[in-house]
Amino acid sequence: MTITPIIGLEVHIELKTKSKMFCGCDAQHFHAQPNTHTCPVCLGLPGALPVPNKTACEWTIKLGLALGCSINEETFFERKNYFYPDLAKGYQITQLQKPFAINGHLTIDGHDIRINRAHQEEDTGKSIHVGDETLLDFNRSGVPLVEIVSEPDITSAGEAKIYLNKIQQIVRYLGVSDADIEKGSMRCEPTVNLYVDGKYYTPLVEIKNVASLTGVMNAINFEIDRQTKQFESDHVEKNSTNKTTRGWDADKNQTFLQREKEGSADYRYFPEPDIPPIVFTKDQIETIRATLPELPDQKIAKYKSLNLSDFDANLLAEDLVFSSIFDKVLNGSTDPEYAKFITNLLIGPLKTISLDIKKIKPDYFQKLFSRRSDLSSTIIKQLILESYQSDTDPLEIAKAKNLFQVSDTGAIEELAKQVITDNPKAVNDYKKNPLSIGFLVGQLMKVSGGSANPQLAKQLLEKLLS
Ligand code: ZN
Ligand code: MN
Repeated sequence: MTITPIIGLEVHIELKTKSKMFCGCDAQHFHAQPNTHTCPVCLGLPGALPVPNKTACEWTIKLGLALGCSINEETFFERKNYFYPDLAKGYQITQLQKPFAINGHLTIDGHDIRINRAHQEEDTGKSIHVGDETLLDFNRSGVPLVEIVSEPDITSAGEAKIYLNKIQQIVRYLGVSDADIEKGSMRCEPTVNLYVDGKYYTPLVEIKNVASLTGVMNAINFEIDRQTKQFESDHVEKNSTNKTTRGWDADKNQTFLQREKEGSADYRYFPEPDIPPIVFTKDQIETIRATLPELPDQKIAKYKSLNLSDFDANLLAEDLVFSSIFDKVLNGSTDPEYAKFITNLLIGPLKTISLDIKKIKPDYFQKLFSRRSDLSSTIIKQLILESYQSDTDPLEIAKAKNLFQVSDTGAIEELAKQVITDNPKAVNDYKKNPLSIGFLVGQLMKVSGGSANPQLAKQLLEKLLS
């Protein structure tokens, strides 16, 4: 039996605009006192009229462009009707027929995952279950969301994780959302079914309530396994067009049946009568495109063209701040050796502290690079950290602390003689095993306070001992 998992992902991204999607309420609801960020519009009171948030629309277009989508110049909102206690109006304002963005793609591991659409909608409130009671908090009601729907082009849990990481990285590069899965500002719903023996499809399952990246992977793997077993035991279901919604129970590490899936007809979508169609002209869309930063894939390609490894390039491009610091230090240089030199400092000693790009001085790196043969790599690491923290020229520090390697043969030879006299046992060891020279070199480095050129120290010790 050959099984190909068919996985699609629906991702909801909560935009971090100042105000909500259709009213002026504060959209920052995390940890706010319940029901303090509300008004007649987001409480769905009769007669209240929604006014779309322009920034949220622009950010949705921006995100669509970053995902390689085409942008619909004219769009409109629709009502998706369903009842749930956290949905005060009895419908969600969303987009069905004409989303802001369509037909994009993301490249992962060299192949394309097609993106069907990125549309704009509003978030619901939150139900909080306390004992036998359910409390409602409407602070989140009406917070702007972008829903990104992929085509089912993903074939494993691992690929789903890479896709989600990439969406998260792009969203953070754009600065339109924290995209924090644990906090709920990024939420993922996988759809999973199987293509068996090149002939059969198992029924489609949509998985809800997954609250972490590990959860997404576990839920997908659980479903692949469950559907495989079901297919083997129950051939009646093959090629069924049934759709079901299953919840994810993270404690039991399994999915459970929630409901037979409703189709879009069940929601009685119709155009939102209180909001006229939204028009963005070609010029306005191009103006938004011009605000796109260099995106992760472009950064990675640029870094690899500097001969940096895949690993280094990915690490540097991980977030926009870090890669911007690298770009600032690189300062247009195309020297692979310099690129590697600053990479080692940024992902080494400087990774341990939080860096402020404004305080980064490219010439400090350049100066250390120009004197790298006179400074040990350990000293260079110390110097870059100290020069950043004290905002002092690293070469001044090196001079003041006498850290330049001594390449003066006479001076090192004196030290070598002293080390030989002081370490008769090690000298004996060396005569039996030349590899043990390392100990004597180490002693010499120690008495020189780390300033001796280690190559020269080794040569001189060997000469004196021969
Ligand atoms: Zn409101
Ligand atoms: Mn949605």
